[in-house]
Amino acid sequence: MPELVFFSGTMDCGKSTLALQIEHNRSTRGLQGIIFTRDDRAGEGKLSSRLGLVRDAVEVADGQDLYVYVVDHLSQGGRADYVIADEAQFLAPVQIDQLARVVDDLGLDVYAFGITTDFRSKLFPGSQRLVELADRVEVLQVEALCWCGARATHNARTVGGEMVVEGAQVVVGDVNHSADEIGYEVLCRRHHRRRMTAASARAAALSPDVLPVAST
Ligand SMILES: [Zn+2]
Repeated sequence: MPELVFFSGTMDCGKSTLALQIEHNRSTRGLQGIIFTRDDRAGEGKLSSRLGLVRDAVEVADGQDLYVYVVDHLSQGGRADYVIADEAQFLAPVQIDQLARVVDDLGLDVYAFGITTDFRSKLFPGSQRLVELADRVEVLQVEALCWCGARATHNARTVGGEMVVEGAQVVVGDVNHSADEIGYEVLCRRHHRRRMTAASARAAALSPDVLPVAST
C-alpha cells in the first residue's frame, strides 16, 4: 500500500540527509522520484544536506497545486515512482492534502520531511496537517544536541546569539550565521524555556554575578 510518511524532527536532525538517502536508494534501483522543496538553504530548486550533498528539486510556489503538478508530469510522459517533499513545514495545509491525494489517487509513496515546531514551539501549519493526515509519523532519532549535551528537541531563533520569541513564523536563516544576523539553534526544552543559547550560556559563565535564574 502506498503511504504518506512524515519524517519529523528538529533542525539539524538529519532530515535532508535522510531525504537524499531515500532518493539515492530508490534511484539506484531504477526508480524515479519527484522532489519538492521550499526555501532550502542551498537556494531555489535544491535539496541539500548539511553534509554537503545537493541535488535538483522542484521549488514549490505559494498556491501551487502539487497534485496537479504530479498529474501533469505523468500525462506529459514523465515518470514518477515516488514523491519526496523536503522542508514540508513550509508547505500550506492544502498542499499537504494534495500530497495525500497523490498517495490515494495516484498510488505513489510520498515521503515528507519537516521540522515539527517553530521557534516559539508552535506547530508549523504544514507539519500540523502532516501529523493529521500521515499514515505514519517517524520521529528522526539522529540526535541533535543542545549546547549542554542534552537531546535537542526545540528550535530557537537567535538575533546576535540571543534567543527571540517574537517575529514572523518563517524567516530563512541558518545555523552557520554570523553575529547580529538571524540564526537558528537547537536546544533542549529546559534551555529553550530559559532562553539560554550557547552564546548566552557563555556570557553567563563569564559573569558569575549574573547567574541564570529559572523563572519561567
Ligand atoms: Zn540544554
